[in-house]
Amino acid sequence: MTELSLAYIFHQQQLLVDENFQLPKVEKLASDLSFNTGDQVVARDLQNSEAIPDGLQLVPIRQLLQYWNTQQFEQASRAIQLLEWRRNHKFCSHCGEKTESHPTEFAMICPACHYHQYPRVQPCVITVITRGNDEILLAKNAKNTRNMYGLIAGFVEVGETLEEAVRRETEEEVGLKVKNIQYLASQPWPFPSNLMIAFKAEYADGDLKLQAEEISDAQFFKFDALPEIPFKGSIAHAMIMHVTEGSKVADDTKSWL
Ligand SMILES: [Zn+2]
Repeated sequence: MTELSLAYIFHQQQLLVDENFQLPKVEKLASDLSFNTGDQVVARDLQNSEAIPDGLQLVPIRQLLQYWNTQQFEQASRAIQLLEWRRNHKFCSHCGEKTESHPTEFAMICPACHYHQYPRVQPCVITVITRGNDEILLAKNAKNTRNMYGLIAGFVEVGETLEEAVRRETEEEVGLKVKNIQYLASQPWPFPSNLMIAFKAEYADGDLKLQAEEISDAQFFKFDALPEIPFKGSIAHAMIMHVTEGSKVADDTKSWL
């Protein structure tokens, strides 16, 4: 009898799970992406022409955060990023030849020029800014249609330190200067391939001046009068709870989920 593997089967940003939000078991295919964790776990894309199997459903991966523990979410996050990377590196970016998968590591190799393409993560800083002992800066993203207030975040640029990225993003998006920047925690975020690096900082100087295309509103809120904030399971939620209620953002057991 063929041994079955647990499968992460994605369609766009959705994952195939059963009615209890658990992964299906499937027969392994040659095209599956395997994890080198020793477990029988594979990842694959659900092709557009394929029907959703009976008893299974496609659920947005963000929603699964509510039902899964950190480890499950991180493995799914890894699966989705590796599939995306493989899909986007079918050809050598150096000479244009068709690439091949490395047999044992996550690398796409060019048979012609031997250029190796590895999966990359995009570092992204996210900052929780406080003023005095009881105020937190929260901002509404201009692209978000909900009335939700989050934190200042943005990609690290080439040649920049993380602290410089925190200062630059804060100044660009809300016109404020910050001080006492301290690292808090990190979270892999597969939309599409980010590593969220969390900092806290204190307001130093300046008046709120919003970057209209990014931020539609930003205010300092009293800790006991917060607006709607990002959902539990996101690092932003944990960071806001950390400064307003003193809860942990993360520790060695990753208890922030
Ligand atoms: Zn090449």
